[in-house]
Amino acid sequence: MKAVVFEQYGEPAEVREVPTPHPADHGVIVRVEATGLCRSDWHGWQGHDPDITLPHVPGHELAGVVEAVGDRVTAWHPGDRVTVPFVCACGTCGACASGDQQVCERQTQPGFTHWGSFAQYVSLNHADVNLVAMPDEMTFATAASLGCRFATAFRAVVQRGRVAPGEWVAVHGCGGVGLSAVMIAAAAGARVIAVDISPQALALARKFGATECVDGASTPDTAQAVRELTGGGAHLSLDALGSPATCAASVNGLRRRGRHIQVGLLPSPSGTTPVPMARAIGLELELLGSHGMAAHAYPPMLELVRAGVLRPDLLTTTTITLDETPAALAAMGTAPGAGVTVIEPWS
Ligand SMILES: [Zn+2]
Ligand SMILES: [Zn+2]
Repeated sequence: MKAVVFEQYGEPAEVREVPTPHPADHGVIVRVEATGLCRSDWHGWQGHDPDITLPHVPGHELAGVVEAVGDRVTAWHPGDRVTVPFVCACGTCGACASGDQQVCERQTQPGFTHWGSFAQYVSLNHADVNLVAMPDEMTFATAASLGCRFATAFRAVVQRGRVAPGEWVAVHGCGGVGLSAVMIAAAAGARVIAVDISPQALALARKFGATECVDGASTPDTAQAVRELTGGGAHLSLDALGSPATCAASVNGLRRRGRHIQVGLLPSPSGTTPVPMARAIGLELELLGSHGMAAHAYPPMLELVRAGVLRPDLLTTTTITLDETPAALAAMGTAPGAGVTVIEPWS
């Protein structure tokens, strides 16, 4: 099969022929019909993810058709149209037993712990725990966007963030996860403030329901801007980019007893990131992390998509081939871009 492979961190990836994988006895092989290009793939390529071993194939937001099934898989069959959370759970550890598969103790992640979906086929583990059936009317490109950014944003805004109608919600960083969060918060009846340094990203955020936009390129203190726009601060704020600056701005833009949700990854050479904890104490802030979403939690989100309340399909702005992927991956470092790029490995 064809796959996008890199041999060294930060060195150009290339498309080449590699062996087609076989399923584990608890797993499946999926023929990849669409796979999203995500900033996490760029972080992995840069060497920021300790789970990755070289050579490596990135890609973790995918949808496709089950091609081959392991002996112990009971729920899935060749021909099933499926997507999958980027955190694939083991199904048997303590976290999984309590329903928290998104923080499984023995999780695997395609494109991180093993070869991912920038390829014509991908191997997925513990299929009975992790696969999600795609609604008939959903396209592969739309389903691919659910596995990481949209499901992650849904859990962050709805389940971790406990968004309520009328609340002010600030979203710092309007890439894939951020724009998804804007759409989900607006659909929940919140008043959404989008913060980004890209005019294109802010224009998309406005299209997806943001009522206010803060241009970080021309606003020295975005937290202050959020506090002024909201009369004291946001009720709920997300760092959807993942940087010390956006994390601090999100926390500093909250009102008393506000909730900060850290969604964007925060790679740091020292392993820690400074957070304004004095403000967290004085204002009784809640600081929460959010990590993907378990497969069993997908149905309420899929129902909102089916009903047209949520439109993840509108987030896809570019569709590319496998051959165009190495350059697009490299470009994410300097120009994360506005909107979502979907790769079609068979085109
Ligand atoms: Zn587990
Ligand atoms: Zn992702």
